[in-house]
Amino acid sequence: MRVGIGRDLHRLAKGGRLLVGGVEVDPERRAVAHSDGDALLHAIIDAMLGAAGLGDIGDQFPDTDPQYQGADSQALLKSAAALLAGKGLRVAQIDATVLLERPKLGPFKQVMCENIAADLGLPVESVNVKAKTAEGLGDVGRGEAIAAEAIVVLKQG
Ligand code: MG
Repeated sequence: MRVGIGRDLHRLAKGGRLLVGGVEVDPERRAVAHSDGDALLHAIIDAMLGAAGLGDIGDQFPDTDPQYQGADSQALLKSAAALLAGKGLRVAQIDATVLLERPKLGPFKQVMCENIAADLGLPVESVNVKAKTAEGLGDVGRGEAIAAEAIVVLKQG
């Protein structure tokens, strides 16, 4: 068994759409990013790569590479799973927390879990997403940023 941890943070800006776990949670704001800015999926990808000893998301999908401009993070998640499979590893379990002041993410958590589980070929019970605010404190609390943390367990095979 191998374990990895991931963390991500993106600045928020007006316009566009905010994706979290592949779900549009805000149609009027976006995460400022080279890719689609899905902080939850980025934290999970980093945890997966970390657990496999494959570095981080920037090593595998560099933001200097034009092919990742506006990249679909669900596609990156599947690519990360393929890299793991190349080392004989697969995701067994994911636990994650998203920090966002608004909107409240409670109504979206189940769909996020279903998206992630489907992309990774996991039973939905193996994916857990929690959502918290920052109680008005700091960059997340002021509504200027979204952050996410994830822990991933990998198994052989
Ligand atoms: Mg990111």
